[in-house]
Amino acid sequence: MLSRRNFLKTGLITGAAGLPLASQLNALDAPPMVAAQEHGGEVTLVPLPPRMAPVDASAEPWQKRVRRVGQTNMTEHDPAVMNVEEWADYWHSAKAEIVFISVTGILAYYPSKVPFHRHGKYLNGRDFFGECANAAKKRGMRVVARMSPDLNWGDALAAHPEWAMRHADGSVQHSGEEPRLFKTCMFTSYMDDYVPAIMREINSLYDVDCFYTNGWPPLGSLPDCHCAVCSKLPASSTPAYWRVFTDRVLDLWHRYDAIAKEKKQDSFFFANSGGNVRGGPNLDRLGKTLEWFQADNQGRTQFEPAIWGCSLQGRVCNAVLDGKFAANVTAAYASSFPGWRNASKNPAEIRMWLDQTLASGMVPYLHFVGAEKGFDEDRRWQPVGRDWLDWSAKHDAHLTTRRSIANIGVVLGQGTQLLYPGPATVRGRNYMRETTDGIYDALLRGRFAWDYVHEDRLDAERLKKYRALLLPNIAILSDAQCEQLRAYVRGGGSLMASFETSLYDENLKPRDEFALGDVFGIRKGGDVVGTNGNPYYARIEHPPSPHPLLAGFGDTNWLPGAENRVPLRPVDDPLLTVVPGFVRYPPELAYPPVSQTDEPAVVLRENGAGRTAWFAGDLERSYWITGNGDLLRLMHNTIRWLTRDERPVHVEGPGLVEMFCWETGPGYAVHLLNYNTPDAQHGWVQSIEPLGAQHVSLKLPAGVRVRSVELLRAGQSVPHEVEGGVLRFTVPALDEYEVAAITVGE
Ligand SMILES: [Zn+2]
Repeated sequence: MLSRRNFLKTGLITGAAGLPLASQLNALDAPPMVAAQEHGGEVTLVPLPPRMAPVDASAEPWQKRVRRVGQTNMTEHDPAVMNVEEWADYWHSAKAEIVFISVTGILAYYPSKVPFHRHGKYLNGRDFFGECANAAKKRGMRVVARMSPDLNWGDALAAHPEWAMRHADGSVQHSGEEPRLFKTCMFTSYMDDYVPAIMREINSLYDVDCFYTNGWPPLGSLPDCHCAVCSKLPASSTPAYWRVFTDRVLDLWHRYDAIAKEKKQDSFFFANSGGNVRGGPNLDRLGKTLEWFQADNQGRTQFEPAIWGCSLQGRVCNAVLDGKFAANVTAAYASSFPGWRNASKNPAEIRMWLDQTLASGMVPYLHFVGAEKGFDEDRRWQPVGRDWLDWSAKHDAHLTTRRSIANIGVVLGQGTQLLYPGPATVRGRNYMRETTDGIYDALLRGRFAWDYVHEDRLDAERLKKYRALLLPNIAILSDAQCEQLRAYVRGGGSLMASFETSLYDENLKPRDEFALGDVFGIRKGGDVVGTNGNPYYARIEHPPSPHPLLAGFGDTNWLPGAENRVPLRPVDDPLLTVVPGFVRYPPELAYPPVSQTDEPAVVLRENGAGRTAWFAGDLERSYWITGNGDLLRLMHNTIRWLTRDERPVHVEGPGLVEMFCWETGPGYAVHLLNYNTPDAQHGWVQSIEPLGAQHVSLKLPAGVRVRSVELLRAGQSVPHEVEGGVLRFTVPALDEYEVAAITVGE
């Protein structure tokens, strides 16, 4: 049988990179394609699950059929200058099926009679909202009534001082940029009375399809207010406050939703969501409540620089929505800090964010701030968005996802992301972001197929699709969650965990011992140890036979450890032991006073079909901040050992590529995102370097036949082969993005 290495050596794929695409495709007809190999080990393809029953689209809520969303975010000056017909024509030409139109709450875009709903100063009695809504409806587009409940003006404050968010000294919290605006408190009657009054007024005047609040609830961090109501609540940023906050958000959400439905039953309310792994309200509860997840994740900033920022959001949505609708906002404007909100963003960055939206299972949503600026001053974003959206409209059937194909679950510890302060040695909010980026990067480089699994959704039914669960420093876990993980391992599942995982309960109360200690066979040996000079090393203890975790580690007796660790008590036959950290400078003293200990750096266990691996150190974050290849290899080796290298889909080829595989209505879709650019982890993409051939293989469910494999971006079919139920084909070249759409039949 031809090995992959020999296959590549024939030059039929890689050697043909310079040929026109058609020539490469012809060349592919010749050689047999074989199961991929990497790092010297076999990958075992496991069959995809039986296909889901067909969906009756007419029985689904209307928003599930929305595939493109458009928004020109209206400014106060727009009513004076915006050409309503031109605005509506653009979004119609871009195939948007629904547009956001501002009602607002800060400035009324219609002749509102609600007290303190100040008319924009260029409105002059005009019904701007109504004209826009009519223009959209005339073209067959639905309308979202967009409100902003987060800020209001001095006259409202004078009449209702209780509406304001307050500092600890009792003073009013104002907008940082416009001090005439005060911040409204979500626990006050502003939200109980003022927002419903606007909603009811809109329902009485217009035919809108749903309501949305911008700017509320807050994302990524929790409010800190000391008004009369809030001063009776638990302190902000505590688990108790997070629960009260979620209760209030969902209570208002239900009430607003009921108001939306007073006019028509298929209307609904939704609000700002997103914040990826941090979120705002508890995402498990939010997912059960909402009908539209509005991922307000508009673009990369220096605070969230990783290139996969939008895909990360999509993976979070998939963990909590159970197939409900999610749209992710792509800022076509410069969404950075500092940001130029009325100028276009790099075209490649706009496209990449839209690509990630689709690849990760969300619906694309294009956004520009200001009609005056977006249709007059800077029009460059328009063809970028329209061309891309127009392309997507040709392939809606293949681009609509039904179920992710993955066999690894990464536990999304939202509580840890929001509330855990970091270990005692490295306090800070970046700590868990860096941990998240570390495991994310490792999974992409290993081409693993993975999902997030929310901490509150660890039930056996949901976990059964996963061969392994990864817990990258999930510090906060309740006893009940630990029991679910215990049951998962008893049932044959595998686990990887690191560092402070399970050392805090759901109230952020530290535990004396790891709650998952019995599952992993570990006991705590001391408090967190950080780094002052050389971090600790992991000594290879030469097991009787080479262990798969050590594959590729020749010619060394030790490996890097991590920046921080929680010391463990000794175990029998440790594979790696800790060599404690020591002086880094001066070099005269850069040697370990103690070169061998019995403190384990990793603890491995086999439990029947399942395996567990515990790392004493924070290797995911240490990998992210150093790029250390040994830490990457150790994570890859561990994940491969835990899963016995089983994969539901395998894509092999050069480059940093993010892969998603979905079951779709027509068959399957393999999405490949090319991240090969100097701008991958900083700033915006100027351009993406094309990559060579990517070899795709997956094992079909019994009885499923493949009719065709089509590359939706390249716009052509590729040959495929099915042997022993395994489908194989090659994407000859990968530009920015490709979707291999597999059509199946019986
Ligand atoms: Zn308050």
